[in-house]
Amino acid sequence: MITLTHVTEAQQFSREGLMELCSAAERMKQLVREQGCTNTLQNKVMVVLFYQPSTRTRLSFESAMVRLGGRYVSTESALDFSSHSKGESLEDTIQAVASYGDVVVLRYHEEGGAERAARVSPVPVINAGDGPGQHPTQALLDIYTIHNTFQRIDGLKIALVGDLKHGRTVHSLAYMLGKFAIARIYLVSPSKVGMPGELVEYLQRHRIDYAIHDNLLPIAHDVDVVYTTRVQREYFDDLSEYQEAYGKYVLSREVMAELKREAIILHPLPRNDEIPPEVDQDPRARYFEQVRNGLYMRMALLELLLR
Ligand code: ASP
Repeated sequence: MITLTHVTEAQQFSREGLMELCSAAERMKQLVREQGCTNTLQNKVMVVLFYQPSTRTRLSFESAMVRLGGRYVSTESALDFSSHSKGESLEDTIQAVASYGDVVVLRYHEEGGAERAARVSPVPVINAGDGPGQHPTQALLDIYTIHNTFQRIDGLKIALVGDLKHGRTVHSLAYMLGKFAIARIYLVSPSKVGMPGELVEYLQRHRIDYAIHDNLLPIAHDVDVVYTTRVQREYFDDLSEYQEAYGKYVLSREVMAELKREAIILHPLPRNDEIPPEVDQDPRARYFEQVRNGLYMRMALLELLLR
């Protein structure tokens, strides 16, 4: 059984731990289908503290807790509606809110927020996104979705596409993929928003075959998974750079025609124009399945941390 104290970054998970969590998520899926809810966490309280907007992450954590019989207290827009607006440090806020619950789920607007919180928190902290840093629970559900489809991760070819510089989901996913014998990772982005150097070095250290491209079309025929992402407008100081990156990697008819029949299309959502709505009908489109898997994976994680 894996043991976790805090969940701050993707690198902390071993390959075995990831597989264990995938099995636990699968059990949660059955549980939800058969009985909807259970009561394993009936005496537990989760504190949800979000400094940045969220639809799926916050609501799936809250739903996961409720389905496990636990309860939660929650603050969205914490930049404005917490004592942050009165000048309180993250460390002080965490020490206060940790006394209200058994786990803290934190989304912070700056990289390193979860790590800082974990240093002072007496209860487990889960990183629900720290600025342009990481989003490990999204990567867990991505790994689960990929594994569920192919029954393996080893040997696959995966394209990470879009704003790889600011996209925290692709950072966490690349770290987790590095634990497997991936056949190849394609890093597809405009050069100005390429994958951070430390992540590329990590892939090298883990002997992952990777290739950097700025065009999706020529490699589309070769991939098993296309992981598309939004250009993260909120992190651009220079709007012209944002405009340069925007709209470059649309899953056009041309790209779709190149993709293998068994390939899958993933996206952490929200999407902008990267995936036209008509792609939703294509059996290769799996981004709404990812959303559902997020609930099961977060149930698995909460149970592991709190039971
Ligand atoms: N929902 C994801 C995140 O919070 C992806 C995105 O916002 O583009 O990082």
